[in-house]
Order: sequence, then C-alpha cells, then structure tokens
Amino acid sequence: MAVPQDGLAFSTFVVGSLPRPQWVRDLIEDRKAGRISGEDAGKLLDDAIPLAIRMQERAGLDYVSDGEWRRESYVKVFADAVKGFKADLFGGGSSQFSSLAYPAVVSKLEPTRPIASEEVGFLRSHTSARTIVAIPSPYTIGRRMWSAEHSTSAYATREEFMEACIPIIRKEIQSLTEIGVDAIQLDDPWLALLVDPDYREREGITDIDHEIEMCIRCVNGATEGLDHLFVSLHMCHAHFNRRHGTRGPYDLIIGALGQMNVDRFAMEFATPDAGGIEVLRDFPADKVLGLGVIDHTDPHVETPEEVVSRVEAAMQYLPKERITLNPDCGFSPSSANPMDLDEAYLKLRAMCEGAGLLRDRHG
Ligand SMILES: [Zn+2]
Repeated sequence: MAVPQDGLAFSTFVVGSLPRPQWVRDLIEDRKAGRISGEDAGKLLDDAIPLAIRMQERAGLDYVSDGEWRRESYVKVFADAVKGFKADLFGGGSSQFSSLAYPAVVSKLEPTRPIASEEVGFLRSHTSARTIVAIPSPYTIGRRMWSAEHSTSAYATREEFMEACIPIIRKEIQSLTEIGVDAIQLDDPWLALLVDPDYREREGITDIDHEIEMCIRCVNGATEGLDHLFVSLHMCHAHFNRRHGTRGPYDLIIGALGQMNVDRFAMEFATPDAGGIEVLRDFPADKVLGLGVIDHTDPHVETPEEVVSRVEAAMQYLPKERITLNPDCGFSPSSANPMDLDEAYLKLRAMCEGAGLLRDRHG
C-alpha cells in the first residue's frame, strides 16, 4: 500500500459517477431490455464518455473517472460481469429505493469478463490526467444482491456469498493495477448505512459488530497481497433523487477504519445528514481522508470559499498533508438517478477552485 506520489496538496478527486445525459440513460435502459446490442451500445458510449472526461478536466480535477456512464449502477456492474445473478428480483425493501429493482444471486458465481478493466483502458487512452476507478466491495455486493428468498440454494448465507466475491474483486484490483490506473476505490456505502438505527431495523441487523467485522474481512481480503497500490474506500449514506437513504454520524464505524488495509477514505461530510465533522478526532492517524466538501443532494452550488471553510474545519483534526477533496458521493451511482450534469460540473469546478485557494493559503 502507498499514498500517491502525486506531489499535490489538497488533491481533488471524483467519487466516480457523474449524471448521465438523458440519451445515455435511455441507452442503458435499451441495452438492458435488448433493444440494442451491447456492442452497438458500447460504440455509442465510446462517443459519449470523452465528454464526461473533458468536463472533469475542465473543472480542474486532479483525478478523473469515466463518469461510470457505461454502468447501470455502481454495484450492478459486478452482476453484469459475473454469471450467477437473475436481474430485477427484488427492490429496496421499505426504503425509498423500492422502485429500483436489483438482481439477486441465484447460482454459483462464474466470472465472464473483467468488471472495470475495459472501462479503465478506454479512460486511460482518452486522458493524460490521473485516473480513478471504483468497484464495489464484496461487503456491499453481499448486502445488496443476496436475498434469503432467492439466494440460499446458491449460497446458504450472506457471509458465504461475500466470501465468494472476495477473490473475484481481488483479481480485478490486480488487473486494474497492471493496466496502470492511478487510484482504485472500493465502494462500500453499506458500511456507513449501519450508523442509522432505522436502517438497521428495516434490515433486521442486530449485531453491528458482526457486520463491521465482515466488512473489514471483505476489504482486507480484496486487497490481500497486493502492494504498491493506492486504494480508497468510499462510504456514504446512499442517495437517490437528492434524498439520502439513511442519516447519522460515523461514530459507530470510525474505529473500524484503522483496521482496513486501504490508504484513503472518501467520506460524506458536506451534508448535514452525515452528522458533523467532530468524529474526525477518531480518524486513524495513518490514513488519508477524502473529505466530502460538495453536497450533491443540495441544488445550491457551493462557492470556492465554502469549500475552503469545510477543509479548514477538517484541518482542526488532521494535518493538511492527509486531506484530499471530493464530493460527498458520486452524483449518480445509478443511471436512473435524475441528477443534473451542468450542476455537477459547476460543483466540481467550485471544489477545484477551492483547492486552488487552499494551496495558495496553506501551500
Ligand atoms: Zn456514495
């Protein structure tokens, strides 16, 4: 493990996804319904995605993604590359996400193609900027795509399913490293969801320690034996259409972060739903913080000065060398998420201008 040798202060990252233009959202739906072949859809996305990359470059980002425009969602991308799932089997339970159907695992996993390596190859060939790619953590895959109703004949328990995901994710991380991506991010929002008692009740979670242990095991298993990487873990409260799925401060889980074999944690802090910045007093001393300075659920576009003040608040708890900047989350982790692309650009631009002010002020 290593921090990036980018020589930058207050580096700026995206979390991953960007809002997709409506025609791209339609394209994803048409591909899923079989109205266009994967190959033809891929050619159109090859035309679209350079715009997502240029937008980030113009906003001033140090690390850019492909906007995740090829994906239906940040977690379904696993089910798209690995056989064993049946699409649209269950929704989000009683949460606001119930309109979004998810696949469930129904047979033993069998990888059929890379999860994100092709995306990264395309991204790297279309930018000279540093690159970041996100893939879901085995813990979040397990929480999201195993169901007692549909999955027990394939994997008797959720934990067994998570264990089966670990080597697949580890192999993908290895491939991404070999391709030369600069930063790899494991998406693990479902760790942060645990902080909300209403969520735990909805999900029937009573043993939080067990969940946290399983999450740590998944992260460390996925990164085991892989050195010289720069790996982030992203966690958040989940969101759709400008509303968070959960809320609450990170106190319950902050102690677990030091046990994870990753370098950086990209976390929500701009939204009031994340419960304040004081929890950073317990942030592990050997990790880099990806400080959420942009609230993607708020249509108000932050000013660069607001970004500066959010970072300076965090500097009460962490030295500036361990602070990087990112929005709270990807703007549209699901292609169905109706967010505004121009607004995302303006917010990212403000974040990067804020980083410039911070570099001037704090060197
Ligand atoms: Zn997120």
